[in-house]
Amino acid sequence: APLVSAGSDPEDRAVEAALRPKNLDDFVGQKRVRRQLSLVLEASRLRGRSADHVLLSGPPGLGKTTLAMIIAAEMNAPLRISSGPAIQHAGDLAAILSSLTEGEVLFLDEIHRMSRPAEEMLYMAMEDFRVDIVVGKGPGATAIPLDLPPFTLVGATTRAGLLPGPLRDRFGFTGHLEFYSTEELELVLRRSAMLMDMKVNSAAFAEIAGRSRGTPRIANRLLRRVRDWALVHGIDLIDAGSAGAALDMYEVDEKGLDRLDRSVLTALITKFNGGPVGLSTLAIAVGEEPETVETVAEPYLVREGMLGRTPRGRIATAAAWHHLGLVMPPSVAA
Ligand code: ADP
Repeated sequence: APLVSAGSDPEDRAVEAALRPKNLDDFVGQKRVRRQLSLVLEASRLRGRSADHVLLSGPPGLGKTTLAMIIAAEMNAPLRISSGPAIQHAGDLAAILSSLTEGEVLFLDEIHRMSRPAEEMLYMAMEDFRVDIVVGKGPGATAIPLDLPPFTLVGATTRAGLLPGPLRDRFGFTGHLEFYSTEELELVLRRSAMLMDMKVNSAAFAEIAGRSRGTPRIANRLLRRVRDWALVHGIDLIDAGSAGAALDMYEVDEKGLDRLDRSVLTALITKFNGGPVGLSTLAIAVGEEPETVETVAEPYLVREGMLGRTPRGRIATAAAWHHLGLVMPPSVAA
């Protein structure tokens, strides 16, 4: 599995859950979103109403699920979790909606992957707290209106642009999560190391943070790999040398690029001479879904200035050539 996904290792998932901050104050970074969100929640508490629907967008592992849990906790409300891919029929959504209790927070991850009919049902539920349950088929079908208790929808998507306009417009607040700075990731790591009872020095925190691709989930995961490495090597206090050696073993390079990132750049450069090449062609070359390349690998490569998105396709920048130990030929640079 790519390093960034939640993964299927049950131990990883259990540790991930244990490391989640439980309130807005423990949530590191994302100052703007945190401040705006705290205002939205405070206002709805004062009005004694359920909070406005919230849309969270940003690459995987930046804290969307964590924020949804925090919203529920701060509103003192129960939380229900589902996801776009799990809702293939309008009936699936109707079943969830009709069982919500007043004020409940419904978290829909990957909301852009919901089916069309479900999406349309969601419009009315968000706006009027009502759904029409269709009974029967063909000319005899009837719609039975059903009132819902007020609830708060928290939708998460890797890119707000993937969402149809009418759905996007029905959220009262949209927060876009940014990649974390190295300093912020160090804070995440310090907190996690404390919870995991690990001894790590400052230089080692910096080393791990620098390789974490701006992503708390990756930072925590790398920390666990470093812990494993230290355990096997009988090391008690982890320093930068140990952290670096451990992470080299897991193919995470000094810039934090993982295997998928590097294979995207390598394909761009060796197969397409640096581009421009279309997303789908590039995705085929690395054997991944276009959406994975676009939402998992590209945002970080763009931020690091190694990949450019142009109207004619993706291009590798001089920094990408350099990172792979290659020199950009003058004919390409021109
Ligand atoms: P997403 O839903 O965006 O994929 P998650 O909310 O599941 O990401 O976060 C992944 C992991 O990263 C969680 O285990 C959580 O502990 C950690 N994490 C994410 N954001 C933060 C943050 N701002 N501060 C501390 N830990 C964080």
